[in-house]
Amino acid sequence: MKTARRQDGTMAGRAFATVLLLGVLASWHLEAQLPTPEAVLGFPVGADSMLASWRQIGEYFTRLASASPKVRVDTLGPTTQGRPYLLVTISDPANLARRAELLANQRRLADPRTLGAAQESALVRAQPAVVLISCSIHATEIGASQMSMELAYRLATDSSLGEALKQVVVLLVPSANPDGIDIVGDWYRDSRWKRWDGTAPPWLYHPYVGHDNNRDWYMLTQAETRLLTRALYGDWFPEVFYDVHQKGATGSRMFVPPFSDPVNPNLDGMLVEAINLVGTQMATALYDAGLTGVAHQERFDLWWHGGNRTVPARHNMIGILTEAASARLATPLCTDSTYRVPERGVNQPIPWTGGCWHLRDIVDYELVAAQALVRLAATQRAEFVQRFVRLGRRAVEAGRTSAPYAFVLPPEGDQGRRAHLANLLIATGVEVHRSRAEFTAGGRTYPAGSLVVRMDQPFRAHAKDLLERQDYPDRRRFPGGPPLPPYDVTGWTLPLQMGVSVATVDAPFAADLERVDTVTVTPGTIAGRGAVVLLDNTTNGMITAVWRVLAAGGTVRIAGQPFMAAGRTWPVGTLLVRGARASLDSAARQLGFDGLAVREPGTAEPLTVSSVPRVALYRSWNANMDEGWTRWVLEQLAVPYTTLTDSAVRAGDLGNRFDVVILPSDSEQVFAAGRSAGTAPPRYTGGLGEAGATALRAFLRGGGTLIALDEASRYAITRLGAPARFVPTSRGSDPTAEQGPEPAADRGDVSRFYAPGSILDVDVDRSHPVASGMGERAAVYFISSTILEAGPGARAILSYSRDRNPLLSGLVYGPEVLAGRAALVEAPVGQGRVLLFGFRPQHRGQTQATYRLLTNAILYGAAHAPARGQTGRGATGR
Ligand SMILES: [Zn+2]
Repeated sequence: MKTARRQDGTMAGRAFATVLLLGVLASWHLEAQLPTPEAVLGFPVGADSMLASWRQIGEYFTRLASASPKVRVDTLGPTTQGRPYLLVTISDPANLARRAELLANQRRLADPRTLGAAQESALVRAQPAVVLISCSIHATEIGASQMSMELAYRLATDSSLGEALKQVVVLLVPSANPDGIDIVGDWYRDSRWKRWDGTAPPWLYHPYVGHDNNRDWYMLTQAETRLLTRALYGDWFPEVFYDVHQKGATGSRMFVPPFSDPVNPNLDGMLVEAINLVGTQMATALYDAGLTGVAHQERFDLWWHGGNRTVPARHNMIGILTEAASARLATPLCTDSTYRVPERGVNQPIPWTGGCWHLRDIVDYELVAAQALVRLAATQRAEFVQRFVRLGRRAVEAGRTSAPYAFVLPPEGDQGRRAHLANLLIATGVEVHRSRAEFTAGGRTYPAGSLVVRMDQPFRAHAKDLLERQDYPDRRRFPGGPPLPPYDVTGWTLPLQMGVSVATVDAPFAADLERVDTVTVTPGTIAGRGAVVLLDNTTNGMITAVWRVLAAGGTVRIAGQPFMAAGRTWPVGTLLVRGARASLDSAARQLGFDGLAVREPGTAEPLTVSSVPRVALYRSWNANMDEGWTRWVLEQLAVPYTTLTDSAVRAGDLGNRFDVVILPSDSEQVFAAGRSAGTAPPRYTGGLGEAGATALRAFLRGGGTLIALDEASRYAITRLGAPARFVPTSRGSDPTAEQGPEPAADRGDVSRFYAPGSILDVDVDRSHPVASGMGERAAVYFISSTILEAGPGARAILSYSRDRNPLLSGLVYGPEVLAGRAALVEAPVGQGRVLLFGFRPQHRGQTQATYRLLTNAILYGAAHAPARGQTGRGATGR
């Protein structure tokens, strides 16, 4: 900068200054005045032990934008904790000046049906390529959030990048999780130079969902996901989406595509090759820059849907991921004598030879990769734009000429969940239609008002992949050997997870359709007369209604036996609501469900809940995502809870404070021992310990109800005496590596069984009140989950069939291991009980079809809770 200024002064004094030169000099002068990140932060980006806070990052971009005509900063909206979510647009000033026109053009390119031949060739000639770079969604992978400032500075000041910006619009998201930048940064600044310097914080780095914030890109449960989704599929439709991550500390220094197999059948091969092109361009640039240890085809695959690169890939966008090796946050990490240089190969031609790895190294690798992408998009601008159009055309054509031709959501079942599914598709850019009249398709007749998702649309891959069944290929290390693990889950079929009726149309059809922008629920009503309202508990709106009724002073009974009312038989699990009628009426209208008011029916021994259940949700200091998801789901359903930490459990007296305690899924070891000493201040280490287990046993003996989610069942069985058994299975890549406490004879199951994220079919014992509102069969989410068997006195509520393969979507090796075993068990302990879940009823906020098993279990526990104080609770016992 000093050099530039001196030149400026010297040259300005000379007589040959032409208009052209003056223009150049003016721009030099301007760029010389652009703030460097160091000038704003007070330290260089990537300096050891230094992390910029979100306020500092925001301040930097604001100052850069006010000084540079190439940089524009927008706030897309507030994050979960209220921070500004930033989108920085960086391009040539002439492009920024016609931003509105560029936005409109991108929308046309994304949907080639709107594009005439002349317009297409004009856009291929002149429209800049649009590249989105998203940093540090995983906040402990913090390098990219720091890198973003230096990248923006270079883009704004470097003359060759300035040329590239005439051809490219860079959309830079300095963090896809701004709250996390401060959650991690604050923790780091508190802990650096202490014994636990560089460890992860004891709480989730996204306020609800932690690392699973990158599992949310079709479900859109979180504020941050929704904000970026709108920018992607509502505004900008970029041709490239680059998601900048970090992996563990060992191994290669940076993963870049090509990704690993398998390739999802919905990804166009042209797109896969374009991803490979960008990845190898990045790798080449990294090696050119003298950076080593760049590797391809690590464990990141092209099967999975739901990530910040995989959803764009189903929108014809080149979805790129890089994963730099991590330091200890901003603390360097050095190899020791045990370090072995990886073997050289075609996927890693120059391995890293070891040494110290600093935050600055991460920043350097990411800077090179990001700049390589911008330069490639500039030199191949026309190809990028043209390919985007062609991919959209191919998707439309595939949907027009091959099955499936459409998916239909008939107007039946829980209309709230049906509307939710349709609105998720719409929010991610999918066209949804409604039939104006009855129509016939694929041999089935659908009524007017059916929602239709046609497949002849550009984002077909996304819609199809969400609505169809996944059939993960049989991949093994060697023939007959153990399975090769997928990167993440293998099945996600939303109609199954959400419990929405969706039909596939496998033949061409005609129907009178209108496009819908949003799907709303029709207000429901409570018909009939009488003091008791009967609810069949089949919609999720009813769950919220029940809690509202309880909060308003009403009571809810769960029928423990079938009974007669209004001339018909009502099943076990029917909800009988008394009082708080205004609250119920308003919920029925707002949430779209119906009920029937009757005179007092003669039910036998109903289970009664007469006030809001007192629910405690255990939170460990191990930052458990399942805890965060449980919290989020309870809040969505309007179910209040109290968070219980280790010390609160160990303090005991739980029975006087709570009716129900929920243990989220976590390993037995984490419950028992928590974080190890030395990894955090002592108040965050040690887990429940023996005192915690004793308190939980006392709670159960006194009549309390414990809900143990998935792996927590193992803790409840082993440490709390729940009379049940679990089958030891693997959670990791090697099904033979993990051994449970079972006798050796059972280990045969371990090597024969593997299901790392699948939807499974179970039989429901509808005579149990916890099954209230469920059908005869249910689709449950199994993610290397817990296979149960009821012990003495215990009762299976959900079970795997003895004669059907339970796989509905995804992958199961060894389904026979499940046959006849249980997925949900009520296990008595003293006067109380544990409800052992062998799956995730609230998995990632997606499994809306099984939310009610969790809330039913809470109501069931509250109905059984010993009478407390003067509330006169109608405990009936069993
Ligand atoms: Zn990550």
